[in-house]
Amino acid sequence: MFVEFRVSTHSRTEFVDITPQVQQAVRDSQVKEGICQIWVPHTTAGVTINENADPSVVRDILMELNKVIPFEDNYQHLEGNSAAHIKSSLVGCTLNVIIHEGRLMLGTWQGIFFCEFDGPRSRKVWLKIVQG
Ligand code: ZN
Repeated sequence: MFVEFRVSTHSRTEFVDITPQVQQAVRDSQVKEGICQIWVPHTTAGVTINENADPSVVRDILMELNKVIPFEDNYQHLEGNSAAHIKSSLVGCTLNVIIHEGRLMLGTWQGIFFCEFDGPRSRKVWLKIVQG
């Protein structure tokens, strides 16, 4: 089953917890055992799993990514968003999560985050939910 949903971002760089949307799509699919592949079809965004209990964790991750990869650094790419492309490649654009008994198998503190690196924008997330 294929699912697309949209994420609106409000800052230049931002992590958005998309765990509820992904879990809802798995519920709607009625797949009890399988894999949910999450795909972000953008070159200046990404997807990652980290702690969603304390929001300062992803704020710290973002702060350090923005330090390590500065917005301006004599980049050659004329669009002016090379930092976002680099962050996208570092973080990655896809994840697989196990589905067991109809639920995403995430650790207690784990959440799925859409990673905006060149916002604000309206973005897409694709899911492929496979039984198996
Ligand atoms: Zn670009």
